[in-house]
Amino acid sequence: MSGLNLAQLQAVHYTEGPCLVLAGAGSGKTRVITHKIARLIETGLAPRRIAAITFTNKAAAEMRERAAGLIGRQAKDVLVCTFHALGVRMVREDGHVLGLKPSFSILDQDDVTGILKDCAGGTTDLATARQWQWTISNWKNQGWDARKALAIAKDDHERSIALIMQRYEERLSAYQSVDFDDLIGMPMRLLRHHPEVREKWQRLLGHVLVDEYQDTNATQYELLKYLVGERARFTAVGDDDQSIYGWRGATLDNLKKLPQDFPQLKVIKLEQNYRSTSAILRAANNVIGLNPKLFPKTLFSELGEGEPVRVVDCDNEEHEAERAVARIQGLRAASNPPPAWKDFAILYRANHQAKPFEKALRKANIPYKVSGGTSFFDRAEIKDLCAWFRLWINNDDDPAFLRAVTSPRRGVGHTTLGALGEFATQHKQSMFGALFNAMLPAVIPKRGLEGLLEFGRTINDLEHRARHTHGAENARAFLADWLKEIGYEQHLYDGEDSEKVAAARWSNVLEFCDWMAQRAGGQVEEGTGLQSETKSLLEVAQTIALLSTISEREQEQDMVVLSTLHASKGLEWPHVILAGVTEGMLPFKLDDDEGRQQKVADDVAARLQEERRLMYVGITRAQRTLAVSWTKKRKKGREMVACQPSRFIAEMKLDAATARENPRDKLRQLREEFARKAQAAAATPD
Ligand code: ATP
Ligand code: MG
Repeated sequence: MSGLNLAQLQAVHYTEGPCLVLAGAGSGKTRVITHKIARLIETGLAPRRIAAITFTNKAAAEMRERAAGLIGRQAKDVLVCTFHALGVRMVREDGHVLGLKPSFSILDQDDVTGILKDCAGGTTDLATARQWQWTISNWKNQGWDARKALAIAKDDHERSIALIMQRYEERLSAYQSVDFDDLIGMPMRLLRHHPEVREKWQRLLGHVLVDEYQDTNATQYELLKYLVGERARFTAVGDDDQSIYGWRGATLDNLKKLPQDFPQLKVIKLEQNYRSTSAILRAANNVIGLNPKLFPKTLFSELGEGEPVRVVDCDNEEHEAERAVARIQGLRAASNPPPAWKDFAILYRANHQAKPFEKALRKANIPYKVSGGTSFFDRAEIKDLCAWFRLWINNDDDPAFLRAVTSPRRGVGHTTLGALGEFATQHKQSMFGALFNAMLPAVIPKRGLEGLLEFGRTINDLEHRARHTHGAENARAFLADWLKEIGYEQHLYDGEDSEKVAAARWSNVLEFCDWMAQRAGGQVEEGTGLQSETKSLLEVAQTIALLSTISEREQEQDMVVLSTLHASKGLEWPHVILAGVTEGMLPFKLDDDEGRQQKVADDVAARLQEERRLMYVGITRAQRTLAVSWTKKRKKGREMVACQPSRFIAEMKLDAATARENPRDKLRQLREEFARKAQAAAATPD
């Protein structure tokens, strides 16, 4: 237990009841969780009876690694995962109580909007479907089902969405499918309404730890309460100043509720920041100090003053990207040994801001990865393949059926599929099930029918073969055969105008297959932290199909990280560039809700506060240097608009004399550095 301060030790050693660690950024909250896992095992709790819940799969992977560093092999039995991955496991084990087969499917965003459109008769545009999805998701996060939504709906508009939600729920249960929100809602209902399931989980879990507690939503909190039961052995760590998911239903009420719901709650505060220099921490404290204080906290650093925080004024987004690249190169040149690429992060508000940086980094030949953006698994080609797996595993997964049967399209047209869908509905069957209905030939013309039947046979055949394919080598061969058999490469080239794009997509496919094959060798399963005994390709496909929609590939590679601020939560880098700190981007346009001009002032104030917390999260990711850049002009649609620096820059209260980065100084510094190195090299005899 070395490397912990007194308050941290106190939190780690208190294992008998509910514990809340409430503290600012970089104060070692996550460290408390990893050490507490070790402590709990030390006290005799079996590793599999410990659950540590993190906010992202990436954070879970990191925590698993850190725990392994402390306790070795036992770490693999600890359930380290996100709320969603825990939900997957609970629903897989006990979903039958709610009428769900263990082979259920998880729908992704596209599937959901597709089904919603369908529920409304198919004429709806994507934007509307997304809006419904948003509303429905919000309701679900509050623990409402369609019945409750209908009862509470406050106008015709909401009532109509509630009706669509009702149809949507029926579809999902027919498809044996769940959406993301169900992965929290269903386990919660399982525990609430089924005492035998509740007792089972409460008996299993001896201690539950939750990181980033401030970003849990109401349903997650309910789930947590049922999981820990009356014994209430749990540890929650969080920071109200880093609550940045209000827009997705996260609520600080969960922080306020804890002491009320658990009067015996032990609250521990941490005050020392071990991450950032004083210069960085001061800027962070200055900004967040302007928000109303819910829970007063102090935070200090003993890492020394460090480099001043820099503000970089840029002409436009391209210029900003060039300056960022120059800064990275400059910082590397300025120290010996130079920092690694992965010591740098460029953070921004919105995904689309990555592009100019990607281009500039590519141009400079600097390796980088975009995290929190389009994940590998969100790529269309990977989703296509996953649709096939989903169908192997759950024949009743209609969205997967529709995707697989059309990628590649096997002579089965829209009309045929429409007729099949109608027939399936009439006969209360899934589309796949309907393929083998003796009455089907009566409604589907011969040519289409042949295509469909062949598809059905292929699926059955593949499923059978996948079940009997074991080990990495066999899996690799099987996947190569399969892709050839269905002509997937050709399909990609046919569908793309640009050969280059098609080639890139094909290389993704190969990478993915390789990754699957490796898993057939049997490894620790990402995302859930469960030791996977997977050997057959079908089993691998099952875990992948289940997790594909919520998991990210983890790679420990030496690359500059590009990330949204939201996805950077909990992480740290020696050198951080906060980009796009431009009024209108961060804070995001606050009064831009067209047609809703008279939005209550309260609402705008609350949103500004959440944006400020986002800025605080960004600043506090930096360990040693921080630069904040903004642009005088910004693309808005096709136009360039003039911009102001974000108000948050002034709020950092930087020293004017040192804050401005002067590119000329940098250049001079580089030249001097170069000359010094050349001299040193000349002086060393080889
Ligand atoms: P955030 O709010 O951003 O999630 P956090 O409170 O979870 O931050 P950690 O990530 O646990 O903070 O810790 C921040 C850094 O400080 C890490 O590099 C961690 O290893 C280090 N650290 C934490 N506690 C100590 C300690 N007692 N002694 C030395 N280093 C520490
Ligand atoms: Mg943390």
